[in-house]
Amino acid sequence: MKSRFAPSPTGYLHIGGARTALFAWLWAKKNNSKFVLRIEDTDRERSTQDSVDAILEGMDWLGLNYDEGPIFQSKRIDRYNEVISDLLSHGKAYYCDCSIERLEEMRETLIAIGEKPKYDGCCRKKYLKKGVIRFLNPDLGAVSFNDYVKGQIEISNSELDDLIIARSDGSPTYNLTVVVDDHDMKIECVIRGDDHINNTPKQINLYEALDWSTPKFAHVPMILGSDGSRLSKRHGALNLLSYRDKGFLPKALLNYIVRLGWSHGDQEIFSIDDMIKLFELKNINNSPASFNQEKLEWINQSYIKTTGIEELVDNLKWHLNQLSINLSNGPDINEVVESLRERSKSLVDMAQSCVMFYNDFEDFELGQASKVFNLESKLILDDLYLQLKILEDWNAENIHSVINNICEIRGVGFGKVGQPFRLALSGDGKAGSIDISAYFVGKKRTISRLKMAIEWINNLDS
Ligand code: GLU
Repeated sequence: MKSRFAPSPTGYLHIGGARTALFAWLWAKKNNSKFVLRIEDTDRERSTQDSVDAILEGMDWLGLNYDEGPIFQSKRIDRYNEVISDLLSHGKAYYCDCSIERLEEMRETLIAIGEKPKYDGCCRKKYLKKGVIRFLNPDLGAVSFNDYVKGQIEISNSELDDLIIARSDGSPTYNLTVVVDDHDMKIECVIRGDDHINNTPKQINLYEALDWSTPKFAHVPMILGSDGSRLSKRHGALNLLSYRDKGFLPKALLNYIVRLGWSHGDQEIFSIDDMIKLFELKNINNSPASFNQEKLEWINQSYIKTTGIEELVDNLKWHLNQLSINLSNGPDINEVVESLRERSKSLVDMAQSCVMFYNDFEDFELGQASKVFNLESKLILDDLYLQLKILEDWNAENIHSVINNICEIRGVGFGKVGQPFRLALSGDGKAGSIDISAYFVGKKRTISRLKMAIEWINNLDS
């Protein structure tokens, strides 16, 4: 038994595609089956290598590992041609040379009289040797199937077109290749977006013409934006990898998208094991799900708080690299992450908070410095410099005592010491708890940054 995810590499892997992939992957895991990744790249004009790379990177980032693949349809053209020849030789397919103008006219006439546009079968009996190749759809009877999500569906054959299975240059089309592959790859359950639901009856007729058994189907409703309209860039990023770039944990995203159209009671947080255990195709909702950015952010923050430290650091490393942070140049990252996880909104936020612990800066942010650094704060910075320089046991508690001590002696509040100290340490004033920050920055760096701040003020005088 197998399921598959079969994206066309004609754009980035979007959030809806990722959810289809997750459902198909969960089905495979749940049923102890194999999961196949198939790249449907027979449309050579629209398929790009960048898109293939984005699909593979996206699957890898999400951890949706596949047992077979990636299988590229472009490498299987001989097999499709073999099936097309077979259909032609058995009179189940035929060449058609109708002009685009004729097809267009026919279409418009049918629409004008309120009928469904459909090819009239004009070339069925012409026995041509070139043109596009059409499948000879049965005229009588009906196609029926029981979709896991949509329920029982029945379509009369009189409503179905003779679909094009090869273009005039001989290249096979999606409806043919998908049937051949799902058959050859022994796909038991086809899970895909419901934008394909109209193709399914035609594909079922192809299975029957080829004397192949038909897989089961689950057509997953689309995802809408929070305002009920079709999900678009306006509602946030559609590109899956941009969620990585924005600091989401892959498991948080998986948790969020599994709930888009699928539920198990009121449960919101699902580990991968929970998902595998509880996932049922029949529980997929038949109406479209709405995307809710705040909920996704809430789930992400809750994962940041609870994910095991190793996994969290592993995911953070990608972001640290983006900021050129070299971990050998500062404190133990595990300790840092433990202290940041409670207040980090995303991995990007967390990585940005790490910068001051590992990277030195050349100067202070001018706007901040001209506000905070002055002769009054210089006195405080001098105190900090002198007292911290002789502090032996460098830990947050002792640093805190030094600050308290200065507050007492100078008769000032914590903020009066904290503000210049924070700017001296971070360069831009963006730092969390000051004693913990100084602890992670380390003694040597703290002293040299205090010195740099004092010099900055001294230079004001001259
Ligand atoms: N390649 C198709 C698409 O990206 C999916 C086909 C299918 O799953 O059957 O929309």
